[in-house]
Amino acid sequence: MPQQPLAQVPLDSRWHWQERGLCRSADPLLFFHPQNERGSSRVRRDQSAKRICASCPVRLECADYAIRAREPYGVWGGLSEDEREAIYRRLDSRYVAGPVGNGLHLAGDVINRAISRDALGLGA
Ligand code: SF4
Repeated sequence: MPQQPLAQVPLDSRWHWQERGLCRSADPLLFFHPQNERGSSRVRRDQSAKRICASCPVRLECADYAIRAREPYGVWGGLSEDEREAIYRRLDSRYVAGPVGNGLHLAGDVINRAISRDALGLGA
């Protein structure tokens, strides 16, 4: 399960969904880029992580959490760092985590585009 210490964990966080995450049995290195990874290597690694997320039963809970916590690193809920960063840029700098579900509301249609065939590297 992606997790790192810089995120602002929402006060109402519940973690039970993490028990069902498919990444628990995947290589954690798929979900976080190594230092200085760029270009096609990064795209391919992100796509590999996204393909796991795409069939994960707790993808929406995961994406919701990550957006609300403003997780800066890793693929969460099928959303890459860049996709989440674009969502964060739309937020007021005084943003504090809203209630459960607010992350999905903020993501809008990005949440589905993130695991489209094109985003998974499977062609349009
Ligand atoms: S959506 Fe992806 S990152 Fe989130 S729990 Fe599932 S496999 Fe892990």
